[in-house]
Amino acid sequence: MGILEPDVRYDGCNDECKGLAMLNMEELELRDRRVLIREDFNVPINDKGEITDDSRLKASLATITKAYLAGATVIIMSHLGRPKEGQSDSSLSLEAVAGKLGSLLDMPVGFEKNWINGFKTEHQSITLVENVRFLTGEASNDSSLAKKMGQLCDIFVNDAFATSHRAHASTHGVAKYAVTACCGPLMKKEIEVLTKALNRPERPLVAIVGGAKVSSKLDIINSLAKKVDHLIVGGGIANTCLKSEGFEIGASLYEEDMIEIAAQIMKSSAEIPLPEEVVCGKKFTVEATAQIKSIHEVEEDDMIMDVGPKSMKSIKNIIKNAGTILWNGPLGVFEFKNFADGTKELAEQIANSQAFSIAGGGDTLAAISNFSVAEKISYISTGGGAFLEFIEGKKLPAIEILEQRGTD
Ligand code: AMP
Repeated sequence: MGILEPDVRYDGCNDECKGLAMLNMEELELRDRRVLIREDFNVPINDKGEITDDSRLKASLATITKAYLAGATVIIMSHLGRPKEGQSDSSLSLEAVAGKLGSLLDMPVGFEKNWINGFKTEHQSITLVENVRFLTGEASNDSSLAKKMGQLCDIFVNDAFATSHRAHASTHGVAKYAVTACCGPLMKKEIEVLTKALNRPERPLVAIVGGAKVSSKLDIINSLAKKVDHLIVGGGIANTCLKSEGFEIGASLYEEDMIEIAAQIMKSSAEIPLPEEVVCGKKFTVEATAQIKSIHEVEEDDMIMDVGPKSMKSIKNIIKNAGTILWNGPLGVFEFKNFADGTKELAEQIANSQAFSIAGGGDTLAAISNFSVAEKISYISTGGGAFLEFIEGKKLPAIEILEQRGTD
């Protein structure tokens, strides 16, 4: 059973994971220093130029406020979207983000379009600089670009966990060349939570990996299968596992070339329950009628698009007894109303469980938002790709460089 109350968000870690092997912003003297903070302001913007979800901006407010109130001159950099390298694109400018950030902080936030060769800052001010991806050499981690970034500051703070799997100039190179480089509070918390969940989890440790393809999540499945007590698979991943066990899955989404690998995964030490009851449709459309069937009744033209209610009961029992839950990916085609129940119930069960729950990765966040359970998940990771790679046990370059810089 979890030791944390169900509604209590994670707020620190126990002794085992205290003391990251890198400097962190809160330990440093920031007064009168130029502090360059890398945030992840890759926010969705509609065709009218409006920011449609400001949660990434809100998540950064505490870091920015801390640095500002400590007496720093704060410069913030981020990417936005995927512009063509070396070219400005007004639809991906961060100017609107600077305005929004100012109103969220209730403080003036300056915006600097041409910044990389230096610009004037007022003492103890906040400036957001233009999209780092407009600069040639950002994605290739060009060292002269990274040096220029480093020269803009006395202290570089990386607070953007979500981009830490990329070795770019603004995430990796700058940390190499800045006089001092450290992690920010958001980054620190994310590393601590994930490290504890993977290395010192409250057991049973349950992972749910759903979604379309085994191939795109193979590394995370393999890594988790060695660590967890129960691995619940969903979506096309479950279909491929069912097929590997010899079940008829009709016209369901699965990957023929992953069958052997799925069979090996099924032999791992984790308990991997497969759905005995499924929800099928005859068409892959939003109007498709849903039919609940035993796995033995699936017909040639059936597509399995969700887990059936009886199988959800077994999943519920596993979740109810979990100490730690890691969730990535939907159990079915949750975008279609008739096939959303499994994912919805899963989200609600995780939200209501006593376990310490962590969710992350693209569609998982969409499901959490659709089913309004965000408040009850213990920790929602900001990093999609970075979250997955961290769980896979990969070294994330932007974190590794901070570790290499050490704590002195
Ligand atoms: P992923 O990006 O791998 O996490 O996959 C998420 C996508 O998988 C969502 O768009 C779901 O609609 C889709 N998905 C989940 N279950 C199924 C299924 N049984 N058949 C087809 N697509 C599915």
